[in-house]
Amino acid sequence: MTNVPKRPQAIRGGLVAFPSEGAVRAADLLIEDGRIAAIVVPGEVLPDEAEHVDATDRLITPGLVNAHTHSHLAIAKGVSRSWTLELHLHNGPWTGGGQNLDDRHLLAQASAAEMLLKGCTACYDLVLELPTPSPDGMFATAAGYLDAGMRAVVTPMLADRTFWQAIPGLRDSLPESAQASVDAIRLASSDVSLAACERILAEWPHDRAMVRPGLAPTIPLHCSDEFWRGARALADRFGAPMHAHLAESKIQAISGRARYGASLTAHLDRLGILGPDFTAAHGIWLDADDLAILARNGASVAHNPSSNFRLGSGIANVPAMVAAGVQVGLGSDACSCSDHQNLFEVMRLACYLSRTASFDPDDWLTPGDVFDMATRGSAQALGMQDIIGDIRVGLAADLVFLDLGTVNFTPLNDALYQLVFAEEGRSITRVMIGGRTVVEDGRLTTIDYPALRNRLNARAQEIFAANAPRRAELAAIEPFVKHFCVGLAQGRIELAGSAQA
Ligand SMILES: [Zn+2]
Repeated sequence: MTNVPKRPQAIRGGLVAFPSEGAVRAADLLIEDGRIAAIVVPGEVLPDEAEHVDATDRLITPGLVNAHTHSHLAIAKGVSRSWTLELHLHNGPWTGGGQNLDDRHLLAQASAAEMLLKGCTACYDLVLELPTPSPDGMFATAAGYLDAGMRAVVTPMLADRTFWQAIPGLRDSLPESAQASVDAIRLASSDVSLAACERILAEWPHDRAMVRPGLAPTIPLHCSDEFWRGARALADRFGAPMHAHLAESKIQAISGRARYGASLTAHLDRLGILGPDFTAAHGIWLDADDLAILARNGASVAHNPSSNFRLGSGIANVPAMVAAGVQVGLGSDACSCSDHQNLFEVMRLACYLSRTASFDPDDWLTPGDVFDMATRGSAQALGMQDIIGDIRVGLAADLVFLDLGTVNFTPLNDALYQLVFAEEGRSITRVMIGGRTVVEDGRLTTIDYPALRNRLNARAQEIFAANAPRRAELAAIEPFVKHFCVGLAQGRIELAGSAQA
């Protein structure tokens, strides 16, 4: 990686939070070549030539890892109305469409800026380009993260069925003029998209320790079986991780049974898609059999509680996932469906939400559990567990420094509990990635934020103005989509099983 400090750094005087131990203790750290070279008890001698980094009154944590987001939707903060997931997808062509190649880089930077300022040092980014992903688009997204100094897995979102085609019966339920409108929105064939993916994976120009490519067939119902198999073959050939939204809404679960005659998870298992390199986002409408399948395959779930609340998607039973042996990481999801990319909020929500799953407090997630999910669990989902996610000798020095003098940590009774239950990111003083300081005194050192802000505001205006006709067209159809989808979720509308993929 570029810009790794040449001199070793000795970080002295801080408290350190260790995810694997679920504990906080005083320790000094030696950083060499961007990695943690030693962890010693306070006061133990560190090399004289090392640059001294004073961590007095600081809590040091590993960088938080966002296991699920979408940088192309960083343009759409505050745009989403009272939308379910389906209405969010229906409006996708204007909230996330109409972007150009420069926007890929800009929006990756915007996403990175927000995450870095909130203590997140790596993310899993699922990026949409229509009608098909492009090598240039993915490379530009990756360059945005690299310029910000942030790690990421960048994956093209893949689909050969549109939202209106994916839910059996939806398109035919619309009035004829609306059918014509949605039919006009087309996606490339799976062959065309897979050829683009092959080039993305084969020609990836960036340092994979910082930013690596993956594949994201976006939603099971949105991809033909042939597309899924092709994506799996490419992922195996290039050692790329896979990611998909799985059983995010009740409508998806119902539609999956109608289309496949089996649960979405069982269907993917039958196709041979699942494995330790597979991350299922959301996983709300999963039963015990589905969880057993995911666990048997060593797959991860990216839990996105804020997005699940915002879209009214339901409550993911994370304690049941953990009990079944499924790996769990935490994600914010996109700015359009959870408005923020703040893993502190996500940790707190995940912890609170687990309390609704059981009357027995022994079943609840603890702050130690969710801190572990937001670090080691998410790192595993990214396939970067050998590089990041913990404070351990040999891992990268991706570190967050929090001021213990803020109101969140005063009085200081239990740093880990206060980190999860009281902190929102405002105590962050410094963020390091690979030993390089990317945030100092609350400011980004790698990004000219005022300039970025001006460009973002200008592009948001331009893009949404250009997308206004499409927005109006979709708004006219929205009541019909809403009627069908709400009816399906409420059981007023039933799907005939088609059992065809
Ligand atoms: Zn998502």
